[in-house]
Amino acid sequence: HARPLEERTQKSRAFHERAESVTPLGVESNVRSFDPYPFYVEETDGSYVYDMDDNEYLDFLLALGPIILGHGHPEVKDAVKRQVDKSDLTATPQPVAIQFMEKVVEMTPSIERVRMANSGTEATMHAIRVARSYTGKDKIAKPEGGYAGAHDYALQSVYASEEALGPADEPNTVSYGTGIPDAVSDTVVAFPFNDKEATEKILRKHADDTAAVIIEPVMFSCGCLKPRDGYHEFLRELTDELGIVLIWDEVMTGFRLGPQSAQGRFGVTPDMTTFAKAAGGGYQVAGFGGKTEIMEEIIPPKKKEESKWNSSAFHGGTYNGHPVAAAAGLKTLEILDERDVYEHIDGLGDRLFTGLQEVADDVGIDANVQHVGSMGQVYMTDADIHSYRDSWKANEEQFADWWLESAAGGVLFGNPMQGERFFTTYTHTEEQVDHALEVAEDAFRRVDHEY
Ligand code: PMP
Repeated sequence: HARPLEERTQKSRAFHERAESVTPLGVESNVRSFDPYPFYVEETDGSYVYDMDDNEYLDFLLALGPIILGHGHPEVKDAVKRQVDKSDLTATPQPVAIQFMEKVVEMTPSIERVRMANSGTEATMHAIRVARSYTGKDKIAKPEGGYAGAHDYALQSVYASEEALGPADEPNTVSYGTGIPDAVSDTVVAFPFNDKEATEKILRKHADDTAAVIIEPVMFSCGCLKPRDGYHEFLRELTDELGIVLIWDEVMTGFRLGPQSAQGRFGVTPDMTTFAKAAGGGYQVAGFGGKTEIMEEIIPPKKKEESKWNSSAFHGGTYNGHPVAAAAGLKTLEILDERDVYEHIDGLGDRLFTGLQEVADDVGIDANVQHVGSMGQVYMTDADIHSYRDSWKANEEQFADWWLESAAGGVLFGNPMQGERFFTTYTHTEEQVDHALEVAEDAFRRVDHEY
Protein backbone atom coordinates (compact mmCIF):
# COMPACT_ATOMS: atom_id res chain seq x y z
CA HIS A 1 0.00 0.00 0.00
CA ALA A 2 1.22 3.49 -0.85
CA ARG A 3 2.85 5.40 1.98
CA PRO A 4 1.47 8.88 2.78
CA LEU A 5 4.13 10.77 0.81
CA GLU A 6 3.41 8.66 -2.27
CA GLU A 7 -0.32 9.33 -2.06
CA ARG A 8 0.42 13.04 -2.26
CA THR A 9 2.96 12.94 -5.07
CA GLN A 10 1.37 11.21 -8.05
CA LYS A 11 2.51 13.81 -10.60
CA SER A 12 6.06 13.39 -9.35
CA ARG A 13 5.70 9.62 -9.67
CA ALA A 14 4.78 9.96 -13.35
CA PHE A 15 7.43 12.60 -13.94
CA HIS A 16 10.05 10.33 -12.37
CA GLU A 17 9.51 7.79 -15.13
CA ARG A 18 10.02 10.48 -17.73
CA ALA A 19 13.12 11.74 -15.90
CA GLU A 20 14.58 8.24 -15.72
CA SER A 21 14.39 8.00 -19.49
CA VAL A 22 16.99 10.78 -19.80
CA THR A 23 19.05 10.68 -16.62
CA PRO A 24 20.15 7.85 -14.28
CA LEU A 25 17.84 7.62 -11.25
CA GLY A 26 15.84 10.52 -12.69
CA VAL A 27 17.85 13.10 -10.75
CA GLU A 28 20.64 15.63 -11.42
CA SER A 29 22.85 14.53 -8.52
CA ASN A 30 22.96 11.14 -6.78
CA VAL A 31 22.02 12.46 -3.34
CA ARG A 32 18.64 13.69 -4.63
CA SER A 33 17.41 10.17 -5.23
CA PHE A 34 15.43 8.20 -2.68
CA ASP A 35 13.01 5.29 -2.75
CA PRO A 36 10.64 4.81 -4.37
CA TYR A 37 11.01 8.14 -6.21
CA PRO A 38 11.79 11.76 -5.29
CA PHE A 39 9.29 14.59 -5.57
CA TYR A 40 10.07 17.32 -8.08
CA VAL A 41 10.03 20.91 -6.85
CA GLU A 42 8.78 23.63 -9.17
CA GLU A 43 8.58 26.70 -6.97
CA THR A 44 10.33 28.13 -3.93
CA ASP A 45 9.41 31.04 -1.70
CA GLY A 46 10.93 32.16 1.63
CA SER A 47 10.76 29.19 4.03
CA TYR A 48 8.84 26.93 1.63
CA VAL A 49 9.24 24.79 -1.48
CA TYR A 50 6.34 23.53 -3.62
CA ASP A 51 6.31 20.33 -5.64
CA MET A 52 4.55 19.65 -8.94
CA ASP A 53 1.51 18.20 -7.09
CA ASP A 54 1.20 21.58 -5.31
CA ASN A 55 2.32 20.19 -1.97
CA GLU A 56 3.90 22.77 0.32
CA TYR A 57 6.96 21.80 2.38
CA LEU A 58 8.45 23.84 5.20
CA ASP A 59 12.09 23.69 4.16
CA PHE A 60 14.99 22.83 6.48
CA LEU A 61 16.91 21.12 3.67
CA LEU A 62 17.62 24.52 2.14
CA ALA A 63 19.49 23.16 -0.87
CA LEU A 64 21.94 21.42 1.52
CA GLY A 65 23.08 24.73 2.96
CA PRO A 66 23.17 27.58 0.43
CA ILE A 67 19.75 29.05 1.23
CA ILE A 68 20.75 31.11 4.28
CA LEU A 69 18.46 34.12 3.70
CA GLY A 70 15.40 32.09 2.71
CA HIS A 71 14.39 31.24 -0.85
CA GLY A 72 14.28 34.21 -3.20
CA HIS A 73 15.39 36.95 -0.82
CA PRO A 74 14.05 40.11 -2.52
CA GLU A 75 17.35 42.01 -2.41
CA VAL A 76 19.33 39.06 -3.76
CA LYS A 77 16.77 38.59 -6.52
CA ASP A 78 16.98 42.26 -7.34
CA ALA A 79 20.81 42.15 -7.51
CA VAL A 80 20.55 39.15 -9.86
CA LYS A 81 18.02 40.88 -12.13
CA ARG A 82 20.10 44.05 -12.31
CA GLN A 83 23.22 42.06 -13.18
CA VAL A 84 21.38 40.05 -15.85
CA ASP A 85 20.41 43.35 -17.47
CA LYS A 86 23.95 44.69 -17.20
CA SER A 87 26.28 41.90 -18.33
CA ASP A 88 26.70 38.22 -18.94
CA LEU A 89 29.85 36.14 -19.20
CA THR A 90 32.88 37.73 -20.91
CA ALA A 91 36.12 35.89 -20.05
CA THR A 92 37.47 39.30 -19.13
CA PRO A 93 37.48 40.13 -15.42
CA GLN A 94 34.44 42.00 -14.14
CA PRO A 95 34.30 44.40 -11.17
CA VAL A 96 31.37 42.61 -9.53
CA ALA A 97 33.45 39.43 -9.02
CA ILE A 98 36.37 41.44 -7.63
CA GLN A 99 33.99 43.22 -5.24
CA PHE A 100 32.68 39.85 -4.09
CA MET A 101 36.25 38.70 -3.41
CA GLU A 102 37.02 41.93 -1.53
CA LYS A 103 34.12 41.13 0.76
CA VAL A 104 35.36 37.54 1.29
CA VAL A 105 38.84 38.82 2.23
CA GLU A 106 37.35 41.46 4.54
CA MET A 107 35.20 38.90 6.38
CA THR A 108 37.42 35.79 6.56
CA PRO A 109 40.35 35.75 9.01
CA SER A 110 42.53 33.27 7.07
CA ILE A 111 41.95 34.68 3.58
CA GLU A 112 44.41 37.30 2.33
CA ARG A 113 44.07 36.27 -1.31
CA VAL A 114 41.21 34.37 -2.91
CA ARG A 115 40.11 32.84 -6.22
CA MET A 116 36.61 31.90 -7.30
CA ALA A 117 35.20 28.58 -8.43
CA ASN A 118 31.73 27.23 -9.17
CA SER A 119 31.36 24.43 -6.66
CA GLY A 120 32.84 23.11 -3.46
CA THR A 121 34.37 20.29 -5.48
CA GLU A 122 36.35 22.70 -7.65
CA ALA A 123 37.36 24.74 -4.62
CA THR A 124 38.83 21.79 -2.70
CA MET A 125 40.50 20.35 -5.81
CA HIS A 126 42.34 23.60 -6.48
CA ALA A 127 43.17 24.27 -2.83
CA ILE A 128 44.79 20.84 -2.59
CA ARG A 129 46.81 21.45 -5.76
CA VAL A 130 48.03 24.84 -4.52
CA ALA A 131 49.06 23.32 -1.17
CA ARG A 132 50.99 20.58 -2.98
CA SER A 133 52.72 23.16 -5.12
CA TYR A 134 53.62 25.29 -2.10
CA THR A 135 55.07 22.44 -0.07
CA GLY A 136 56.52 20.37 -2.90
CA LYS A 137 54.84 17.30 -1.32
CA ASP A 138 52.28 14.97 -2.92
CA LYS A 139 50.00 13.51 -0.28
CA ILE A 140 47.03 14.96 1.53
CA ALA A 141 45.54 13.83 4.84
CA LYS A 142 41.85 13.87 5.68
CA PRO A 143 39.62 12.52 8.42
CA GLU A 144 37.82 9.32 7.46
CA GLY A 145 34.15 9.92 6.78
CA GLY A 146 34.78 13.47 5.57
CA TYR A 147 33.25 14.53 2.26
CA ALA A 148 35.34 17.22 0.57
CA GLY A 149 33.83 17.08 -2.90
CA ALA A 150 33.40 14.72 -5.84
CA HIS A 151 36.90 14.69 -7.34
CA ASP A 152 39.07 11.58 -7.05
CA TYR A 153 41.35 12.89 -4.28
CA ALA A 154 38.39 13.90 -2.13
CA LEU A 155 36.47 10.65 -2.65
CA GLN A 156 38.85 8.74 -0.40
CA SER A 157 37.68 7.17 2.86
CA VAL A 158 34.36 8.94 2.60
CA TYR A 159 31.91 6.08 2.96
CA ALA A 160 33.29 2.58 3.49
CA SER A 161 32.68 -0.51 5.54
CA GLU A 162 34.51 -1.25 8.76
CA GLU A 163 36.16 -4.15 7.02
CA ALA A 164 37.55 -1.93 4.24
CA LEU A 165 38.63 0.83 6.61
CA GLY A 166 40.52 -1.50 8.92
CA PRO A 167 41.91 -0.43 12.29
CA ALA A 168 40.31 2.70 13.78
CA ASP A 169 43.60 4.14 14.98
CA GLU A 170 45.33 3.73 11.63
CA PRO A 171 42.63 3.52 8.96
CA ASN A 172 43.20 2.32 5.40
CA THR A 173 42.52 4.74 2.57
CA VAL A 174 39.75 3.46 0.31
CA SER A 175 38.08 5.00 -2.72
CA TYR A 176 34.38 5.71 -2.50
CA GLY A 177 32.85 4.01 -5.49
CA THR A 178 34.35 2.72 -8.69
CA GLY A 179 36.08 4.59 -11.51
CA ILE A 180 38.87 5.94 -9.33
CA PRO A 181 42.39 4.60 -9.99
CA ASP A 182 43.87 2.68 -7.05
CA ALA A 183 46.94 4.88 -7.32
CA VAL A 184 44.92 7.83 -6.03
CA SER A 185 44.40 6.09 -2.69
CA ASP A 186 48.19 5.97 -2.25
CA THR A 187 48.25 9.78 -2.26
CA VAL A 188 45.73 10.18 0.55
CA VAL A 189 46.21 9.45 4.25
CA ALA A 190 43.16 8.96 6.47
CA PHE A 191 43.01 9.69 10.19
CA PRO A 192 40.25 9.44 12.83
CA PHE A 193 38.57 12.79 13.64
CA ASN A 194 38.70 13.83 17.30
CA ASP A 195 41.37 11.27 18.24
CA LYS A 196 44.43 13.38 19.01
CA GLU A 197 46.78 10.53 19.74
CA ALA A 198 46.03 8.60 16.54
CA THR A 199 45.95 11.77 14.43
CA GLU A 200 49.37 12.80 15.71
CA LYS A 201 50.91 9.39 15.13
CA ILE A 202 49.62 9.22 11.56
CA LEU A 203 50.56 12.77 10.61
CA ARG A 204 54.07 12.43 12.06
CA LYS A 205 54.57 9.18 10.16
CA HIS A 206 53.59 10.78 6.82
CA ALA A 207 54.85 14.32 7.47
CA ASP A 208 57.63 14.23 4.88
CA ASP A 209 55.17 13.40 2.06
CA THR A 210 52.07 15.26 3.24
CA ALA A 211 51.27 18.64 1.71
CA ALA A 212 48.00 19.36 3.45
CA VAL A 213 45.42 18.34 5.97
CA ILE A 214 41.94 19.09 4.63
CA ILE A 215 39.28 19.04 7.33
CA GLU A 216 35.85 20.43 8.11
CA PRO A 217 35.77 22.45 11.36
CA VAL A 218 32.60 20.57 12.34
CA MET A 219 32.14 17.33 10.43
CA PHE A 220 28.71 17.99 8.99
CA SER A 221 29.46 15.45 6.28
CA CYS A 222 28.82 12.76 8.93
CA GLY A 223 25.72 14.47 10.30
CA CYS A 224 27.13 16.79 12.95
CA LEU A 225 30.39 15.71 14.60
CA LYS A 226 31.56 18.45 16.92
CA PRO A 227 35.29 18.83 17.50
CA ARG A 228 36.38 17.85 20.99
CA ASP A 229 37.83 20.70 23.07
CA GLY A 230 41.30 21.55 21.83
CA TYR A 231 41.30 19.26 18.77
CA HIS A 232 41.59 22.05 16.22
CA GLU A 233 44.13 23.97 18.32
CA PHE A 234 46.18 20.77 18.48
CA LEU A 235 45.93 20.26 14.68
CA ARG A 236 46.91 23.89 14.10
CA GLU A 237 50.08 23.47 16.19
CA LEU A 238 50.97 20.07 14.77
CA THR A 239 50.58 21.06 11.10
CA ASP A 240 52.67 24.18 11.76
CA GLU A 241 55.39 22.06 13.30
CA LEU A 242 55.33 19.49 10.48
CA GLY A 243 55.22 21.94 7.57
CA ILE A 244 51.76 20.78 6.48
CA VAL A 245 49.27 23.29 5.07
CA LEU A 246 46.09 23.31 7.15
CA ILE A 247 43.06 23.65 4.87
CA TRP A 248 39.70 24.18 6.51
CA ASP A 249 36.97 22.97 4.22
CA GLU A 250 34.30 25.54 5.05
CA VAL A 251 32.10 24.66 2.08
CA MET A 252 29.33 23.79 4.54
CA THR A 253 30.23 26.09 7.46
CA GLY A 254 31.56 29.13 5.59
CA PHE A 255 29.45 32.27 6.18
CA ARG A 256 26.93 30.03 7.93
CA LEU A 257 28.45 29.63 11.39
CA GLY A 258 29.08 33.38 11.58
CA PRO A 259 30.30 36.36 9.56
CA GLN A 260 33.84 35.06 10.00
CA SER A 261 32.77 31.48 9.31
CA ALA A 262 33.73 28.62 11.67
CA GLN A 263 37.27 29.97 11.99
CA GLY A 264 35.95 33.14 13.64
CA ARG A 265 33.61 31.14 15.84
CA PHE A 266 36.34 28.76 17.05
CA GLY A 267 39.25 31.24 17.03
CA VAL A 268 41.55 29.00 14.99
CA THR A 269 43.06 30.31 11.76
CA PRO A 270 43.91 27.77 9.05
CA ASP A 271 46.41 28.45 6.25
CA MET A 272 43.81 27.99 3.53
CA THR A 273 40.02 27.91 3.40
CA THR A 274 37.47 26.65 0.90
CA PHE A 275 33.92 27.98 0.79
CA ALA A 276 30.78 27.71 -1.38
CA LYS A 277 27.11 27.19 -0.44
CA ALA A 278 26.04 30.06 1.90
CA ALA A 279 28.46 32.48 0.20
CA GLY A 280 26.26 32.50 -2.90
CA GLY A 281 22.84 32.63 -1.27
CA GLY A 282 21.64 29.94 -3.70
CA TYR A 283 23.77 30.81 -6.75
CA GLN A 284 26.89 29.01 -7.98
CA VAL A 285 29.56 30.70 -5.95
CA ALA A 286 32.58 28.97 -4.47
CA GLY A 287 36.20 29.77 -3.83
CA PHE A 288 39.42 29.05 -2.04
CA GLY A 289 41.90 31.36 -0.43
CA GLY A 290 44.54 31.76 2.21
CA LYS A 291 47.89 33.28 2.94
CA THR A 292 49.26 35.43 0.11
CA GLU A 293 52.47 33.43 -0.02
CA ILE A 294 50.54 30.20 -0.60
CA MET A 295 47.99 31.62 -3.05
CA GLU A 296 50.78 33.13 -5.15
CA GLU A 297 51.71 29.59 -6.18
CA ILE A 298 49.07 30.27 -8.85
CA ILE A 299 51.19 33.03 -10.44
CA PRO A 300 53.57 31.75 -13.15
CA PRO A 301 57.10 33.13 -12.84
CA LYS A 302 57.38 35.53 -15.76
CA LYS A 303 61.05 35.43 -16.50
CA LYS A 304 61.98 31.77 -16.39
CA GLU A 305 61.63 30.58 -19.97
CA GLU A 306 61.81 26.91 -19.12
CA SER A 307 59.09 27.22 -16.57
CA LYS A 308 56.59 28.84 -18.88
CA TRP A 309 54.41 25.77 -19.02
CA ASN A 310 55.18 23.96 -15.86
CA SER A 311 56.10 26.08 -12.94
CA SER A 312 53.05 27.09 -11.02
CA ALA A 313 49.81 25.57 -9.80
CA PHE A 314 47.15 26.10 -12.43
CA HIS A 315 43.82 27.58 -11.61
CA GLY A 316 41.29 28.48 -14.27
CA GLY A 317 37.69 28.05 -15.31
CA THR A 318 35.38 29.56 -17.93
CA TYR A 319 32.65 30.28 -15.41
CA ASN A 320 34.79 31.44 -12.47
CA GLY A 321 33.35 34.64 -11.04
CA HIS A 322 30.23 34.51 -13.22
CA PRO A 323 28.82 38.04 -12.86
CA VAL A 324 25.27 36.96 -12.01
CA ALA A 325 26.42 34.53 -9.33
CA ALA A 326 28.95 37.07 -8.03
CA ALA A 327 26.23 39.72 -7.78
CA ALA A 328 24.08 37.29 -5.77
CA GLY A 329 27.07 36.41 -3.58
CA LEU A 330 28.04 40.03 -2.98
CA LYS A 331 24.52 41.00 -1.93
CA THR A 332 24.26 37.90 0.28
CA LEU A 333 27.55 38.63 2.06
CA GLU A 334 26.57 42.29 2.57
CA ILE A 335 23.32 41.22 4.21
CA LEU A 336 25.09 38.56 6.32
CA ASP A 337 27.66 41.12 7.46
CA GLU A 338 25.23 43.93 8.26
CA ARG A 339 22.01 42.45 9.62
CA ASP A 340 21.02 40.23 12.54
CA VAL A 341 21.04 37.03 10.43
CA TYR A 342 23.22 34.88 12.71
CA GLU A 343 21.37 35.93 15.86
CA HIS A 344 18.14 34.88 14.13
CA ILE A 345 19.20 31.58 12.57
CA ASP A 346 21.27 30.46 15.57
CA GLY A 347 18.41 31.29 17.95
CA LEU A 348 16.01 29.27 15.83
CA GLY A 349 18.65 26.53 15.51
CA ASP A 350 18.73 26.20 19.31
CA ARG A 351 14.94 26.14 19.42
CA LEU A 352 14.64 23.55 16.63
CA PHE A 353 17.38 21.13 17.63
CA THR A 354 16.85 21.22 21.39
CA GLY A 355 13.13 20.92 20.66
CA LEU A 356 13.74 17.83 18.52
CA GLN A 357 15.67 16.19 21.36
CA GLU A 358 12.79 16.95 23.72
CA VAL A 359 10.06 15.55 21.47
CA ALA A 360 12.12 12.43 20.69
CA ASP A 361 12.64 11.93 24.45
CA ASP A 362 8.93 12.45 25.11
CA VAL A 363 8.02 9.81 22.55
CA GLY A 364 10.68 7.48 23.92
CA ILE A 365 12.77 7.27 20.73
CA ASP A 366 16.53 6.76 21.14
CA ALA A 367 17.85 9.93 19.54
CA ASN A 368 20.98 12.02 19.88
CA VAL A 369 20.39 15.47 18.41
CA GLN A 370 23.58 17.43 17.75
CA HIS A 371 23.85 20.99 16.46
CA VAL A 372 26.11 23.97 16.12
CA GLY A 373 24.33 27.26 15.47
CA SER A 374 21.88 26.90 12.60
CA MET A 375 23.03 23.39 11.54
CA GLY A 376 22.45 20.00 13.06
CA GLN A 377 21.29 16.41 12.74
CA VAL A 378 19.16 13.83 14.56
CA TYR A 379 21.06 10.57 15.05
CA MET A 380 18.74 7.66 15.74
CA THR A 381 20.70 6.25 18.65
CA ASP A 382 21.29 7.09 22.30
CA ALA A 383 25.04 6.56 21.87
CA ASP A 384 27.58 9.38 22.12
CA ILE A 385 28.84 10.34 18.68
CA HIS A 386 32.30 11.84 18.21
CA SER A 387 33.62 10.06 15.12
CA TYR A 388 32.56 8.66 11.76
CA ARG A 389 32.54 5.14 13.18
CA ASP A 390 30.39 6.27 16.13
CA SER A 391 27.86 7.58 13.61
CA TRP A 392 27.32 4.01 12.33
CA LYS A 393 25.49 3.29 15.58
CA ALA A 394 22.57 5.39 14.35
CA ASN A 395 19.64 3.56 12.79
CA GLU A 396 19.63 4.55 9.09
CA GLU A 397 16.35 2.89 8.28
CA GLN A 398 14.48 4.44 11.19
CA PHE A 399 15.89 7.84 10.26
CA ALA A 400 14.75 7.48 6.63
CA ASP A 401 11.27 6.49 7.80
CA TRP A 402 11.11 9.43 10.22
CA TRP A 403 12.16 11.73 7.39
CA LEU A 404 9.51 10.30 5.05
CA GLU A 405 6.79 10.67 7.69
CA SER A 406 7.87 14.28 8.33
CA ALA A 407 7.91 15.03 4.60
CA ALA A 408 4.42 13.56 4.30
CA GLY A 409 3.49 15.99 7.09
CA GLY A 410 4.89 18.87 5.01
CA VAL A 411 8.28 19.39 6.66
CA LEU A 412 11.69 18.65 5.12
CA PHE A 413 14.27 17.82 7.78
CA GLY A 414 17.17 17.67 5.35
CA ASN A 415 17.10 14.57 3.18
CA PRO A 416 16.48 10.94 4.12
CA MET A 417 20.10 10.10 4.88
CA GLN A 418 21.51 9.75 8.35
CA GLY A 419 24.86 11.22 7.23
CA GLU A 420 23.32 14.52 6.12
CA ARG A 421 22.20 17.47 8.22
CA PHE A 422 19.68 20.32 8.09
CA PHE A 423 19.47 24.04 8.71
CA THR A 424 17.49 27.06 9.80
CA THR A 425 17.23 30.13 7.56
CA TYR A 426 16.55 33.85 7.91
CA THR A 427 12.89 33.65 6.86
CA HIS A 428 12.04 30.93 9.42
CA THR A 429 9.92 32.07 12.34
CA GLU A 430 9.42 30.68 15.85
CA GLU A 431 5.91 29.65 14.79
CA GLN A 432 7.28 27.69 11.84
CA VAL A 433 9.83 25.94 14.05
CA ASP A 434 7.14 25.08 16.61
CA HIS A 435 4.93 23.70 13.85
CA ALA A 436 7.89 21.62 12.57
CA LEU A 437 8.35 20.20 16.09
CA GLU A 438 4.72 19.05 16.15
CA VAL A 439 5.16 17.31 12.80
CA ALA A 440 8.44 15.79 14.02
CA GLU A 441 6.83 14.47 17.18
CA ASP A 442 4.03 12.84 15.23
CA ALA A 443 6.59 11.31 12.85
CA PHE A 444 8.63 9.97 15.82
CA ARG A 445 5.48 8.25 17.09
CA ARG A 446 4.95 6.61 13.71
CA VAL A 447 8.48 5.14 13.69
CA ASP A 448 8.48 4.10 17.34
CA HIS A 449 8.71 0.37 16.71
CA GLU A 450 11.31 -2.36 16.27
CA TYR A 451 13.84 -2.05 13.41
N1 PMP B 1 33.15 20.02 1.06
C1 PMP B 1 32.16 19.89 1.95
C2 PMP B 1 32.47 19.96 3.41
C3 PMP B 1 30.86 19.68 1.52
O1 PMP B 1 29.87 19.52 2.41
C4 PMP B 1 30.59 19.62 0.13
C5 PMP B 1 29.19 19.42 -0.42
N2 PMP B 1 28.24 18.95 0.42
C6 PMP B 1 31.66 19.78 -0.76
C7 PMP B 1 32.91 19.98 -0.27
C8 PMP B 1 31.43 19.74 -2.24
O2 PMP B 1 30.71 20.86 -2.66
P1 PMP B 1 29.88 20.84 -4.03
O3 PMP B 1 28.73 19.93 -3.82
O4 PMP B 1 29.48 22.27 -4.22
O5 PMP B 1 30.81 20.38 -5.09
